Amino acid sequence: MEQKIIKIIKNKTFIRLVDCLPTRPIYMVEDHDDKRFGTKAVHSGTNPVGGGVNTPVFLSSTYHLTDDRYAGWAAGAQHTLLYSRLSSVNSEAVAAKITSLEGAEDAEVFASGMAAISTTLLGILSSGDHIIASPDVYGGTYGLLTEELPRFGIEVTMADIQDPSSYESAIKDNTKMIYVETLTNPVLKVCDLEAMANLAKKHNLISVVDNTFASPWGCNPIKYGFDLVIHSGTKYLGGHSDLIAGLVAGKKDLIAHIFPKKVHFGGAADPHMCYLLERGMRTLHVRMPTHTSNAEELAKRLANHHMIECVHHTSLPGNNFELAKKILPKGSGMLAYVVKGGDTAALEFMRTLKLSLEATSLGGVESLVECPFNSSHMFVPDQIRQESGVIPGFVRMSVGIEDVEDLWDDIETALKVVENLLIAKV
Ligand code: PLP
Repeated sequence: MEQKIIKIIKNKTFIRLVDCLPTRPIYMVEDHDDKRFGTKAVHSGTNPVGGGVNTPVFLSSTYHLTDDRYAGWAAGAQHTLLYSRLSSVNSEAVAAKITSLEGAEDAEVFASGMAAISTTLLGILSSGDHIIASPDVYGGTYGLLTEELPRFGIEVTMADIQDPSSYESAIKDNTKMIYVETLTNPVLKVCDLEAMANLAKKHNLISVVDNTFASPWGCNPIKYGFDLVIHSGTKYLGGHSDLIAGLVAGKKDLIAHIFPKKVHFGGAADPHMCYLLERGMRTLHVRMPTHTSNAEELAKRLANHHMIECVHHTSLPGNNFELAKKILPKGSGMLAYVVKGGDTAALEFMRTLKLSLEATSLGGVESLVECPFNSSHMFVPDQIRQESGVIPGFVRMSVGIEDVEDLWDDIETALKVVENLLIAKV
């Protein structure tokens, strides 16, 4: 690209940085499509403006309106550097990376997972349309579906995420979309993505999946035929519990439709956050194997512990097992278990743990625990929660990448404390 020299003072050459930037960031997606996951994670989309090795934090709310940019604006403005609510150097890098990692055609980045979900649903559905989802979805999504969409005249039916035929039975003349999660929060039910995508195709519906719990390292729903894949970038993609972000990847025409809704609703991603998110995404494939092997080891040990009523993990035999092997062949870093003694015992257990912090969220390098009843799923009605398996004593654990033996020592000690308390009460 041609660079404009603006001044030469005492033999130093000054070049306007804007002239070093292409009007569209240098997409490397195509260059790395033939590469493996780790190479894509490190290189795809990364835009080393100015000759560095990573995308710098590029703080400009607006951009110089060149002829190219006017042309991009006239063509719909997507992926044109015009104004940072539309896109920025940093959001473009993240969008290109998730496009590559999910095997998508295009993507948009948002200020939060909920901004990605709400913009996608409200952007595609109109008054009179119908969506089929499940009570097993993330609590915030459940709230959006049950409290907000009906206010705009959008009908919602809840079906069983593990039973595609229940989704099929719920289809009506005005059904436009089906919505699922790869692995549900917090009970870790695996969704048969292939069956759901086929169902959507058969009935000409738009299929949307929240793939946050799996991460693109664990599962690529587009290969099963999904139209749109959503992530809370706050979780595994960011990976360090230091940002809030959301992403939608999928079919080009649908992303082009969602882009102006992002511009209108305003949930744009900040360049600082995108810088951190991109940095996290570059090591996703290095972190995930430890998250999953730690979770698998803890699941095995907890399943044999006398203070644990039951354990949910994709590696354990159960009604999920065969499907989990197909949809999540590399495993999952999320774990859930029921501590004997109900919610009081579960709270005592969590508060005795020294390594795993009691906090809502997941996917960071550090282990986190929560009881969904008083945190992520607090506003989901009791009955719905219990029906989906969140029974008293239920603990959700996002297993970090600490040494698994230290995590186990901590868990064993805390379970012993709870056991002694229960014995003392009798
Ligand atoms: N989807 C899932 C599965 C989640 O667990 C969450 C948050 O916990 C979200 C979406 C919402 O993401 P955010 O908190 O980034 O808005």
